[in-house]
Amino acid sequence: MTNKRFSVPLYMRILLGMVVGIIIGAVALAVGGEWFVQDWVTPWGGLFIRLLQLIAIPLVFVTLIIGIVGLKDVSKFSRLGGKTLLYYLCFITVSASFGVGLGLTVKPGALVNPEAVVEMQEAYRSVISDRATVAEQTKRQGPLNFLSDIVPNNIVTAAGNNSNMLQVIFFAVFFAVAALLIPPEKAKPVNALFEGLNDIILKMVDFIIRFAPVGVTALMAGLVTDFKGDLSMFGALGLYALTVIVAMLIIMYLFYPLMIRIFSQHTVRDFTRAMYPVQLFAFTTSSSAATLPVTMKAVENDLGVSKETASFVLPVGVTVNMDGTACYQAIAILFIAQVLGIDLTLSQILTVLFMTVLSSIGTPGIPGGTYVILAMVLISVGIPAEGLALIIGIDRPLDMLRTAVNVTGDATVACMIDKK
Ligand code: ASP
Repeated sequence: MTNKRFSVPLYMRILLGMVVGIIIGAVALAVGGEWFVQDWVTPWGGLFIRLLQLIAIPLVFVTLIIGIVGLKDVSKFSRLGGKTLLYYLCFITVSASFGVGLGLTVKPGALVNPEAVVEMQEAYRSVISDRATVAEQTKRQGPLNFLSDIVPNNIVTAAGNNSNMLQVIFFAVFFAVAALLIPPEKAKPVNALFEGLNDIILKMVDFIIRFAPVGVTALMAGLVTDFKGDLSMFGALGLYALTVIVAMLIIMYLFYPLMIRIFSQHTVRDFTRAMYPVQLFAFTTSSSAATLPVTMKAVENDLGVSKETASFVLPVGVTVNMDGTACYQAIAILFIAQVLGIDLTLSQILTVLFMTVLSSIGTPGIPGGTYVILAMVLISVGIPAEGLALIIGIDRPLDMLRTAVNVTGDATVACMIDKK
């Protein structure tokens, strides 16, 4: 995405925003101008986060409905449909679990100075204490209580609170499955309406993401003053980025080749070779949706997967299967919790896992698609969405990598399904 007037790519502007934000924060600390940052700069970062939160529920709702309604071919391709979904779900679960495992063992957020963590907790005190109350209440509830967390009794109330993401997802899935089961001619206008809505919402996301450089500048300036110039935060961010990079490389160069070797008729060498251009395209565009035609071409022409399989498995994969994103979101959520000094219990960690599996499915295949979803997942697991400020500045290169993983995952499943 480039701005025609300046033709500086968006990610460069985001990186620049990060640097400018750090400078503003450092200058404010040096001249005692923290009040200025707090009153005049940070609110712009807050605005960016609010916009992300604003669009989250409509986005998840419409993306999920479009994804499921698009499966109308499931009955036509019933041989493929169930198997494809099962493989995708397994892949996402493995990737998200891997992310959770890495986040918990490497603990990149633990590098931050304990005093700085206390400062952060002070800054986010009200939200963190709300979360503690919720956790306390959850402990006292029965084992089947999750049912009422998932099934709302009123969709308007459910959609009125960003922390009810699961309830909105439940309604969207229920709605879409019902839409699949009514006569197609009746469903047609509704599907067309959702397609239109999807385009509009993606356009809105595009506008919001264009605002990212300003948001990132403000958030970084606020972060530097919140941390009182403590550099341990940057060490922690470095370790966090490294953890994500290693995770992505392991999924791409160990997990997928292993799956190809065991479950497909292709050699790992042929697969890796055919995937290079696709990965490069995904890496540069940061959009698995934009990469779809390139993935299709490589999978059909270079790997000889049948057109029937490729034209079903790959488009579904772009909406449903985001292994890189699932793994990344798990690491990001744990990192933010660690930096904010929030100790997650086992059941909360399982919730993070569950939510990342679901929310990666609801993430659109566009650059920075994750920001929007992550803002919502954070709230629904009780972590302040402002924590996004910690990671947004360095997100673009990680986005490039996870997009390359996402498209490779789709191609891997296409090869596995096509086994004759
Ligand atoms: N950019 C990613 C994709 O298109 C989505 C994300 O932000 O994780 O696959």
